[in-house]
Amino acid sequence: MFLKGKTALVTGSTSGIGLAYAKALAAEGAQVMINGFGDADAIEKERAGLEATSSKALYDGADMTKPDEVAAMVKRCHDELGGPDIVIANAGIQHVEPIESFPIDKWNQIIAINLTSAFLLLRASIPYFKEKKWGRFISTASAHSLVASPFKSAYVTAKHGIAGLTKTAALELATFGTTVNCISPGYVWTPLVENQIPDTMKARNLTRDQVINDVLLDGQPTKQFVTAEQVAALAVFLCRDEAAQITGSNYSIDGGWTAE
Ligand code: NAD
Repeated sequence: MFLKGKTALVTGSTSGIGLAYAKALAAEGAQVMINGFGDADAIEKERAGLEATSSKALYDGADMTKPDEVAAMVKRCHDELGGPDIVIANAGIQHVEPIESFPIDKWNQIIAINLTSAFLLLRASIPYFKEKKWGRFISTASAHSLVASPFKSAYVTAKHGIAGLTKTAALELATFGTTVNCISPGYVWTPLVENQIPDTMKARNLTRDQVINDVLLDGQPTKQFVTAEQVAALAVFLCRDEAAQITGSNYSIDGGWTAE
């Protein structure tokens, strides 16, 4: 319970990797604020489960593309929970389509949700990190922050951007007891991955099984999906005092994908 007394704000935590972060941080005693979209009853069930694990859990439905909503959520995290101490920029979506037909609206949406949202969240969190002289800002980047795949131009661009934002922010916050890092998972079986299968089938003219085995798993030498819990365990480590000198780093957790 080394995070007792700390408050974590995790965006895009109504499912998948974000929810795993929230659960892992709550298990170490942190109060948590979760965020994201989805069925209201299901979100309330998760919130109540988190509250039963740690001392307090809140849900905020801020749309991470809206600067005012992001700022209000961070302020609410401060006013109602005394945070944020740990902030995880995790909201994300994917779109798979060749560049020549990639719609501009889709491009702008992917950049807004996967990249600009992290900037907005960081900008709103910095005054609290400086005030506390302690902070942890972690973004979920992706193996696509290091390597590309065809038909994912906006996503690959956004995730490379997260790596750059991470390094810049690490330098700006280095003397404020605050570390800034990103985690780059390979494929984790979540709604985001499942939802991209039909477009990948179309773009590559493959069956569903071929997409799963020949596209998703074939690129990971372990031939296994990474789990959301494995990603969350890495984030928990980055919150420890022993990790205070780790900043500006991009951690791969991808079954060896980017080693090849
Ligand atoms: P997911 O679909 O389970 O979760 C995405 C979350 O983002 C959901 O809670 C959703 O409601 C939220 N979200 C989407 N748009 C939002 C918005 N405008 N405002 C607020 N919340 C919003 O998918 P996931 O796989 O758990 O993805 C989480 C993060 O992990 C993403 O940044 C994704 O790019 C990254 N990632 C995923 C994988 C993978 O294989 N699943 C691999 C590498 C990186």
